[in-house]
Amino acid sequence: MRRLLLLTLIAFFGVFSLADAQSYSESDWQMAFNAKVTRGEVEVQHPTGRIDILTNEYAIEVDHVRNYLAGIKQALQYAAAAKRKPGLALFMDGGEDTAQALDAARKLCAESEVRFWLINEFVSVNDLVAQKGITAPPARQSPSSSSVRTATEQVQTVEKTHWMNTSSGVRHNRSCRWFGNTKNGRYCRPDEGRPCGQCGG
Ligand SMILES: [Zn+2]
Repeated sequence: MRRLLLLTLIAFFGVFSLADAQSYSESDWQMAFNAKVTRGEVEVQHPTGRIDILTNEYAIEVDHVRNYLAGIKQALQYAAAAKRKPGLALFMDGGEDTAQALDAARKLCAESEVRFWLINEFVSVNDLVAQKGITAPPARQSPSSSSVRTATEQVQTVEKTHWMNTSSGVRHNRSCRWFGNTKNGRYCRPDEGRPCGQCGG
């Protein structure tokens, strides 16, 4: 069983590193997890500090698996201060986040009656990429040598909200794994082509 978990994690991180070399911040993990699972308030100011995620039921600390001890302490403090149940949401992202630390975190949370989530079980690489897309500043347009653009250029400036697979004519939105990721494709308008069956286009 444990071996299976280990293999799953190895497979996961293998795909992870291949799929995208860029790294994700604690905030990316936090925002993507909250958007998918807890749907609470994030970064809530409190006299004792900033609570990562606050829901009606839980005060949740988000951190690397390697920081689980400090995380549990923080969760208990938040919970007492905000009169919620304590929650700890950890993510594995990097070699220092070991399976041993994850095991220890799960056990200690169970003993301390802290609700535990492993964020990697809920948040995929696609979620993180989409998260980056939301939080990253908009891409700068390349400076045009002339301030007067032709009509053709203006038509070609499509908002980068949708992607068309030009081989199949299927349209994808930003949440989709195929967004910007087909062999033949281009950005397109939200009413072009046929909507993807998975993401709804
Ligand atoms: Zn799609």
